[in-house]
Amino acid sequence: MRKFDLTKEEWYKQRDDRTLRVEGVKGFDHFSLGIVVDPLNAKQYPSQVAALVCVNIMSRWCKKISIQPIDQKSVLPNSTGADFSKLLLDTMENSDPYGNFQLKSFNQTDVDLIIHVGGTSTPIEKSIVVNGSGWIAGISNSAPLISLSNDDTNPIGPSFAACLACAYAFNVAISKSYPVALTKWYSLLDFSAGDSPNSVNPALDNGFHFGKILQVGCGAVGSSLDYLISLMKLNADLSIADFDSVEPPNCCSSLSFTADDSVTTPLTKKVDVCDRVLKSSGVIAKVFPDPFTGDIYSAVKPDLILCLANEQAVWPAIQYNYPPLVYHATTTPNWGINFGRHIPTEEWCIVCRFGITDYKFKPVCSTAVVEVEEKKILGVLPFLSPSAAVMTLAEVLKLSRDNYPVNQNFYQFSFKNLPGAEFIGQQKERRPDCEVCSTQSADFYPKLLGNSKYFHLLGPWPVAHSQTCSDGKSGEKSSRYFSSGK
Ligand SMILES: [Zn+2]
Repeated sequence: MRKFDLTKEEWYKQRDDRTLRVEGVKGFDHFSLGIVVDPLNAKQYPSQVAALVCVNIMSRWCKKISIQPIDQKSVLPNSTGADFSKLLLDTMENSDPYGNFQLKSFNQTDVDLIIHVGGTSTPIEKSIVVNGSGWIAGISNSAPLISLSNDDTNPIGPSFAACLACAYAFNVAISKSYPVALTKWYSLLDFSAGDSPNSVNPALDNGFHFGKILQVGCGAVGSSLDYLISLMKLNADLSIADFDSVEPPNCCSSLSFTADDSVTTPLTKKVDVCDRVLKSSGVIAKVFPDPFTGDIYSAVKPDLILCLANEQAVWPAIQYNYPPLVYHATTTPNWGINFGRHIPTEEWCIVCRFGITDYKFKPVCSTAVVEVEEKKILGVLPFLSPSAAVMTLAEVLKLSRDNYPVNQNFYQFSFKNLPGAEFIGQQKERRPDCEVCSTQSADFYPKLLGNSKYFHLLGPWPVAHSQTCSDGKSGEKSSRYFSSGK
């Protein structure tokens, strides 16, 4: 084995710390997985995305994984032409230098759970099949999945299928029981769920340019988002900002951070890892190794801000700058993820969501906060941050759709009980007593954001904004922005 600076015991103690902080989580140390990528689909983009994301997340908690060897070359933008089996093995070994990861044939008695990625085989006992393409993701432990047409533009469905597989496997590992019959399909395009795939599954418009995107935060969600971006062709001017560095506990839930990244001297900046991951597929981002400030905002003049930082001062700092379209995503202690959208003046703002914070503040998402040595350590399950990243990227990609916004502005999803798991949506309105946006005049927006790419989402100007936007009554206006009833 290659040289690694931490002993096996010390590495797992630190790496699994946040996973083990989640209530009810224990006893996954000896769980073993077998992964089979369907041979007929293994050369196709959706199966390769699903397989790579799946082994990446799995290797951040499961210490024994066997992969059925596949004789295929990678078709993924970050690794085109590489031996795909070797790519899967390298990905796992980079996540966990002490894992027992092998490319070898196995049978049902060798492992605790078999995951079939892609294909239409019928799952046998102690196995599941997952499939995804375009916006669609499916999982079953009891029936063959319908074949999907091959969409090589969009990593969303395959990535979410991988997250579903990981949540299923993690649940089996800690509960030592296998769920009842489960067959579920999801669309990340309209957040629908059902027992068959949604037939609406359009390819992405590769000619669309998404404008200037500022990603604030390169932690578990942000770095996972950049990993997903490296698996596709995203036309955008991307900027990334974070002051923090990678440490072993960060390696449990990020698709990007390797074990080696977490033990360097001096420490490796999270933003530099994200930069490296993006460059692997040719994306050159502007890099800011600093906390978010108005200076970064001014330097980037973003069309879209992705607020993926946990630091509480970030929320008002963004909102005080009269931001353009903002998305946020968070994870919860109870197997859940949240996603929110903020169209200026039309919808709740980022401070309506999180409030002005001080040390006593507790976010409405009730993220598990455990006081240890005056530092707040968050408990999080390995698949939650990648899943929150999938939801965030899905919303970004929807900007290319004529009918944007396709959906409501706040969604929650819980992986706790997969047979009943659905996206729960709400349209959140502005808070009349919001400390920031209630004091901000709509009159400034045309001057500040008139040239930004998504300014039209604020509605016709100034007709829809003849009153000041501080009255908090935006329900009538915002209701036209999504089709309800899905
Ligand atoms: Zn507000």
